[in-house]
Amino acid sequence: MKNLKITTVIKTYPSDELSKTDQELVTAAKEATKSSYAPYSRFSVGVAALLKNGVVVTGSNQENAAYPSGICAERTTLFYANSQYPDQPVDTLVIAARTEKDFIESPIPPCGACRQVMLETEARYKHPIRILLYGKKEIYEIDRASDLLPISFDGAAMEV
Ligand SMILES: [Zn+2]
Repeated sequence: MKNLKITTVIKTYPSDELSKTDQELVTAAKEATKSSYAPYSRFSVGVAALLKNGVVVTGSNQENAAYPSGICAERTTLFYANSQYPDQPVDTLVIAARTEKDFIESPIPPCGACRQVMLETEARYKHPIRILLYGKKEIYEIDRASDLLPISFDGAAMEV
């Protein structure tokens, strides 16, 4: 038997240590929470994606009474970006979330389904997606989506 050790490096920052561009992306992600449709969870998530051409695309979670029919903010944003700008890789993806009271204290992690879509987007464009997870206390920076989904399933697994 042998152990396989997996390491993920996450940089943490107080929000005032971010670059101006990153601060603007955080602001855009926070702003995007306002377009959330979350009557069931009352948990509004906003995402800002900086594309390689400099365009910033935002999106939010869209819930549905038939729960699985809703979609997370990360996938809303990535699918919109990929459909509107199919030749543009995503450089940076910023995620922010709030309850009805305020933005959450700790960095908001993406769900497994969204990690899978981020991974596919990274592979599709052969371009790492840098991820910033916003929290009031601190912000996490992850260099690439694949860092959030080790031992992942992708298209290569279907090739013989
Ligand atoms: Zn998700």
